[in-house]
Amino acid sequence: MKKKIEDKLYTLKYKTDEAGHLTPDLSKCLQCQEKTCTIICPANVYCYNETEKKLTVSYEKCLECGACRIACEHIDWKYPKSGKGVIFKKS
Ligand code: SF4
Ligand code: SF4
Repeated sequence: MKKKIEDKLYTLKYKTDEAGHLTPDLSKCLQCQEKTCTIICPANVYCYNETEKKLTVSYEKCLECGACRIACEHIDWKYPKSGKGVIFKKS
């Protein structure tokens, strides 16, 4: 049976960095209509609160897939520091 992405996400481990490696330009987020980052990310890293007009970035869940980097030019995207970030299990 084909596994759902949620099941696969449970198999990952993370070494969380103290500082975030994904830095959106929040002034651009306020004007952004599409909020593509909240749709495209397979790990639900980005969440926009309409009431507070605030984008939160749960960078510790990032899979480093690069999709948001391609989708939005207003994200300062770096890899986590060496030894930090997601750890994929070898299959
Ligand atoms: S990070 Fe980019 S896509 Fe996401 S809300 Fe901000 S400007 Fe929009
Ligand atoms: S790199 Fe991939 S997993 Fe990480 S925040 Fe961007 S879209 Fe989400």
